[in-house]
Amino acid sequence: MTKRLIACCDLGGTKMLAGLVSSQGELLAVEKYLINGRGSPQAVLDDLDAVLRRMLASIGRKYDDLAALGFSSTGVLNIETGIVAMNHNIGWVNVPLRDMAAQRFGLPVILEMDANAAALGEYWKGAARGISAFALVIVGTGIGSGLMLDKRIWHGAHSVAGEIGHTVILPGGPLCGCGKHGCLEALASGLAISRRAEAALKLGRTSVLQVSDQAISGQQVVEAARAGDELARSILEESGFYLGVGLANLITLLDPQVIVIGGGLGVGAFDLLEAPMKRAVQQHLNYWAARSTPIIPSALGEYAGLYGAARAALDAVSQSILSEVTK
Ligand SMILES: [Zn+2]
Repeated sequence: MTKRLIACCDLGGTKMLAGLVSSQGELLAVEKYLINGRGSPQAVLDDLDAVLRRMLASIGRKYDDLAALGFSSTGVLNIETGIVAMNHNIGWVNVPLRDMAAQRFGLPVILEMDANAAALGEYWKGAARGISAFALVIVGTGIGSGLMLDKRIWHGAHSVAGEIGHTVILPGGPLCGCGKHGCLEALASGLAISRRAEAALKLGRTSVLQVSDQAISGQQVVEAARAGDELARSILEESGFYLGVGLANLITLLDPQVIVIGGGLGVGAFDLLEAPMKRAVQQHLNYWAARSTPIIPSALGEYAGLYGAARAALDAVSQSILSEVTK
């Protein structure tokens, strides 16, 4: 195993990250590319094949050096069957991705949910190295989490554990994409931030942000807050508060050693969210709960899922629990 490579990829809503990782966890090559307009499973695997071969050539290695492929994916997955039950972003329903990839590449393939893979990445090479109980909370367009409990990713009974974004924080609150009201995701995600900014501007609040044909992005709100814009700062303050309420519940429930915050918004605006988030955590923890649980930003950023997918594949190869490879 020591000389062999693990191929890994992280399938997002619009983009793919692919990499080659050594069995010691060294990221030897990485490529990021858009999958817009090429979203069929076959096209995704064709593109991945070309990218893997290009990366192998760039480091002077051969296809035969690959030992396994770790696949991290967004969407609703069934880890046991290797099926992507639903991926709204690219319109997939019941795609047997693991077996398709195993057949396409002639490699053992393991499929893992993106937030879980990211947690495994942080555990292996990131902000939670060797920590046996922690949560990685990803704050981006949506909100999700990966739970590492007793040194194992907690998948739950139906592979859907960790959906902290859809825990209800404010009953009767804003409508969430899942159809419920007041989910954490509807209150603190990038999407929630942009919606709150647009609603405030329509009410006539003054700000450097302006209503236009295009939706205001969470990133624009963050930039305005950094430039001192009062409205943007108050919106991020509110998001940080709700995030803190969600984290207080998580700490009360799991008693983790640390909480790692990942995701584009979570990492990019950590300094702006941190104070209101930590205040809300303190306000909402009971006296017996761990009030000193560190809340820290991700160390691997967008590469966390890639490392985690590689680690999951490495673990599976060494434990020989992979599905049979169809050649
Ligand atoms: Zn929801």
